[in-house]
This record gives sequence, structure tokens and C-alpha cells, in this order.
Amino acid sequence: MNNRKISIVECADYDIRRVKEAIRKAVSLIGGWEGIAERGNRVLVKPNMLSARPPDEGVTTHPAVVRALVELVQEAGAEALIGDSPGETNRELSHFWEVCGYSEVSRVTGAPLISLDREILEVEVADGVIYKRLHLSRSVLEVDALITVPKLKTHSLTLFTGAVKNLLGLIPGGGKLEFHRRCPRPDDLGEAVVDVFSVARPKLALMDAVVGMEGNGPVSDKLRDIGVILAGRDSVALDTVAQAMIGLKAFDVPTTRAAAQRKLGTSDLRQIEVLGQPLKVVEDFLLPSNAVVRSIPRPILDLIARRIMVRPRARADKCTNCGVCMNSCPVDAIYIEERPVRVDYKKCILCLCCYELCPEKAMDLRKSLLARFWR
Ligand code: SF4
Ligand code: SF4
Repeated sequence: MNNRKISIVECADYDIRRVKEAIRKAVSLIGGWEGIAERGNRVLVKPNMLSARPPDEGVTTHPAVVRALVELVQEAGAEALIGDSPGETNRELSHFWEVCGYSEVSRVTGAPLISLDREILEVEVADGVIYKRLHLSRSVLEVDALITVPKLKTHSLTLFTGAVKNLLGLIPGGGKLEFHRRCPRPDDLGEAVVDVFSVARPKLALMDAVVGMEGNGPVSDKLRDIGVILAGRDSVALDTVAQAMIGLKAFDVPTTRAAAQRKLGTSDLRQIEVLGQPLKVVEDFLLPSNAVVRSIPRPILDLIARRIMVRPRARADKCTNCGVCMNSCPVDAIYIEERPVRVDYKKCILCLCCYELCPEKAMDLRKSLLARFWR
């Protein structure tokens, strides 16, 4: 089986019949369900359920994509499970399933919703760079196949969040904060995520790029109609193609670079066979404000990063002092003294978890003076 095939199939909107046909075709182009979902298999479908947001906000994988995929896995004779662990730990998991539309998918398809915060096992990471051991749910480790189902989005810290970065959601609950605490630099975070990828390799990556996100993702309100679904057996190759579509070089994205350097997939476009629609660059796609830092040599960047990066700041007109950001901050840099919450920039490691997880979209990313000049 050629793992270097990536299919791009047109899909104009989230009409369930259109999405299902697009996924059917996308998977067929890369060789079909063999080795992914076969009779008697248990298959874990992992969407991007970053936070409790309704589908039309474009923050999470659209439920129509999850539903169509689950139905196709079932038609192939396998049992489909839907599993995730959001970064925010303040609220019940059922709230996330409901708001993101996955409860309805479960009701319609009969696929169970699985918490990845339960039945935790320790696993050795043979070639781990940051982690030599990880804790993952039995559901992740004991299924026959894992399918990563990201949304095409920018990410203010890592530039891009796709098939590989989506696997940070396999880390149970607050363990994700420990990743950010231990790896404040994007390059290190990329290595840590690839440690996860190295022990939980998806057999299929399926990307929702029907509507993508540009600007300061992963919770930007700038959505773009891209109108395609991508599929591939090599998650790194799929991310590479998606990055090329939005004008990023694969080696600018920490997860893609780390995974390719460890030979866990290919990031060389010349070695990837694109099938279906041709690879077209989305015109004027807006990259995150921090994209500029990737062009700065690392030693210089280490010295000036704090001055040129954007910083989170809560808006008084939106902040409800709910405390989600404070509880999600890996270095306790957020204080509820008055409204809005205050960020201590001396402690802040710019992980942007507060920005990602604020349910009110009250955290803005403000550019420093130097960052504005640089851009
Ligand atoms: S910034 Fe957002 S998450 Fe933080 S307290 Fe205000 S509303 Fe809650
Ligand atoms: S204040 Fe926000 S960006 Fe800074 S470390 Fe805390 S969660 Fe991360």
C-alpha cells in the first residue's frame, strides 16, 4: 500500500450526503478501507473537540464529517467509537459532546462517545524526545485503528493544527497543561506531540477543510470556505499538503518537522502523490500574527521572543470572570482580582491555552509594539 497518496476531494458544504460521498471518494482514492476499517475491527474516531463550541464557529471538526466517517466505518463492517479529551477540565464531558454536535452523531449512528480520560495505562515511548513514558487511555491503545479527524486551522503558537497536532487531545485531561508547562517553546511542544504520535499512529487522517480557519487560530472568527476534504494514510504527508494549500512550508510547522525528522512520515511534497483535485493554494490566506517569528534565527528568537510575540489580554466587555482561563493556565499566570482577569506577563509562557479555551472569546491576542513594526 502506497502511504504517500493524499486525496483532495471537493465538498462544497456540510450537507451530510455530499460529505459522505466526498469521504467515500477520498478514501477510495487512497486505496480504500483495507487496513483501516475491516469487518470485526474496533476503530476510534478522534475529532478536534478543542472546546465547547457550536459547529458553525469552525473551531471543532464539523459533526457532519464525523457522522459520515462513522457511517462509512460501520458500512465497512467495523465498530466505530468517537473519543476525545478537551483541554478545559471545568465542565462535564457531556457538555462538550452536546455543544459540538457529537451527541447527535452518536444518537443517529449508535457509535458510543468515549472519554479518553478514563482507564489510563502507562506506555513506553521508545524514541521519545521529550517524554520517555506517556499515559494514555486503554481505548486509544487497544483499538484496531485510530483515525485522526482534524479541521484545517491556523494556530497562533504552532502556526498550524492538523492531523498530528490533533493527537494532543489523546492526552488525558489536565495532562495537556503539563505538556505546555514542560514545553513553552513551539519546537519543543512539536517534539512532545510527536512523542504521542509515535505511540498512537493513526491509520487514516481525514481533514475537514470544507470550512477552514485563518488568522489567529485555533479560535479565530476568520473562517474561509475552502470546500475540500483531504484523506491519507500518512498523517505527516496530509499535514504537508494542507500546509501547502495555505502557503506554509512544512518545515515551519514544529509537529511536521519533528515527525518527518524522526521518519514517521514524509513532508517532502515531491514524494507525495496528490489525487483527486489538484493542490491549489488558497489565495491571500491569512496566517497567524506570530508567523513572522519563524523567519528569525533561533538564537535571536530566544532573546527577543517575548517582545515580538502577541500576548493574551482579557476584554472587560466580554470577560465574565468564569475562571476557565485561570484553571487552564499551566504556570498560574492569571489572576481574578477584578474584571477582567489579569495576566502576569513575567510568568506567562505564551502557550495561549487561555485564548483557546475562553468560552466567551474574551481573550484577545494583542501585538506588542515591536511585533506591529516587524509585520
Ligand atoms: S477571560 Fe474568558 S475564561 Fe478567563 S475569566 Fe474571562 S471569560 Fe472566563
Ligand atoms: S496566561 Fe495564557 S498564554 Fe500565558 S501561560 Fe497562562 S494560559 Fe498560557
